[in-house]
Amino acid sequence: MPNRSKLPADGTRPVNQRVALVTGASSGLGAHFARLLAKARFGSIALAARRTDKLNTVAEECMHLGAGRVIVLPLDVASGDSIRDAFNTVSRGERRLDLLVNNAGIAETASALETSLDDFDKVMDVNLRGVWACATEAGRLMKSQTGGGDIINIASILGLRVANNLAPYAISKAGVVQMTKALAIEWARHNIRVNALAPGYIRTEINDTFFDSEAGQKMIARIPMRRIGSLQDLDAPFRMLALAESSYMTGTIITIDGGHSSNAL
Ligand code: NAP
Repeated sequence: MPNRSKLPADGTRPVNQRVALVTGASSGLGAHFARLLAKARFGSIALAARRTDKLNTVAEECMHLGAGRVIVLPLDVASGDSIRDAFNTVSRGERRLDLLVNNAGIAETASALETSLDDFDKVMDVNLRGVWACATEAGRLMKSQTGGGDIINIASILGLRVANNLAPYAISKAGVVQMTKALAIEWARHNIRVNALAPGYIRTEINDTFFDSEAGQKMIARIPMRRIGSLQDLDAPFRMLALAESSYMTGTIITIDGGHSSNAL
């Protein structure tokens, strides 16, 4: 058996001593990522979002699945004060942060001409400014500790391609793609890896009915694999980035989309 109390030379900690923070952990992908970390027996998982009642339910599941400790954090990523409070709580309580899953995001569907500046700002505040603010708070913490850390931004194939009636969302996710690369090259020297997952369409409770509709079925017909993704399709790429098993990867955007973003023009 390896001696788990001794850290390797690069400071990487055993999973059961690592601290993770997942934003947007109250539903969908974020709740799923939190459960995966719990199954991997992460030492401490902070679950952050606005709906704390939903976070409490996810927290209970995570404890059952094997997490060492779970913290529920109220967080509105559109507010700088709320972000600072959440990161201060983690840094005071846990003394470090090994992994940030920068997942909180929203999508507003409307044509560009019907999108007000307020609607545009709403998407940018959460999907771009919020992701930036969480990444830089995490970067400061990770720079100050032994072993650096990992940041996984949740982008989208709409950061690489476009779709009708989702311009602000696509623009914000393209920003997340560039942010991932820009932070990766700045922070490699601090042993902080910054990568992104760019999922295609993933079935969650929220979009379930759309994918069963005629319009949804037409959309699925354009995916080379002829199916939308499931949450489980994200598991292997997420684990590869989250569990420090890909230590020479940074600035990478991993698409998980059944070939959707590579389809023929
Ligand atoms: P979802 O179920 O609606 O989850 C969105 C999460 O973001 C919720 O937990 C929500 O929590 C949180 N959130 C929204 N606004 C927030 C705010 N101001 N402050 C803090 N948290 C906030 O949607 P999802 O599909 O899981 O999406 C998760 C991420 O995956 C997003 O970044 C999305 O763009 C990306 N993505 C999804 C798909 C897909 O097909 N589902 C594909 C590509 C990328 P509260 O409401 O409780 O705050």
